[in-house]
Amino acid sequence: MDVKGSLHSVFSLLFPTICVGCRAVSSEVLCPTCQKKSVFCLKQESISFLSGYWSFSAYEGPLRTLIKQAKFSPNRAYANFLADFFSASFGEPFPIVADVWTPVPPDPSRFRQRKFDLVGTVFGKCLKKNSLEIIPTMVKRKITPSMYQMTLRDRQTAIHGAFELGGMCSVEHKKVVILDDILTTGATMAEAARVLRKGGASEVCGLTLCRA
Ligand SMILES: [Zn+2]
Repeated sequence: MDVKGSLHSVFSLLFPTICVGCRAVSSEVLCPTCQKKSVFCLKQESISFLSGYWSFSAYEGPLRTLIKQAKFSPNRAYANFLADFFSASFGEPFPIVADVWTPVPPDPSRFRQRKFDLVGTVFGKCLKKNSLEIIPTMVKRKITPSMYQMTLRDRQTAIHGAFELGGMCSVEHKKVVILDDILTTGATMAEAARVLRKGGASEVCGLTLCRA
């Protein structure tokens, strides 16, 4: 074993990885038990403002804890683990057909703090398996407050006018799928869908990692 390998072994003994879901000692971010509890299965749901909506999983259990960590920790290991975990659940071809896969544009200040993009990391890997890619089509033009504890009406007011077209391709006459991490009330997704429809998209759908 070389010096680097020895140091890594000593470090692993001193600081073993702890499962984010149950705090048990684990060689992975989620232990095998918590992985079994985190079921992925693409679920379709009818949402009034979208032509189609799918989510990979409910926002609960160990996965909820892991996504929170991945969103707010600067440690990329959580996002990379999620990317491997989600993409492993999907074979080819990707079960949804669309012309453009686009993210909800992140808040520029939050993006800088986090230094990486959870949605891009996870969906990027899932789509790449099928030779598809994420294409930004919108930008965020105003900073919005944290909407965590807001009512639906307050969220709608806060997000209204936050996005505008300004990405790398036109959405005119295209079927667009908006990507996000969690769908809660849908206020953010609804506003993004409104902007894309105004830009001429023929169909707007949504896909999130979790459904709250
Ligand atoms: Zn666990």
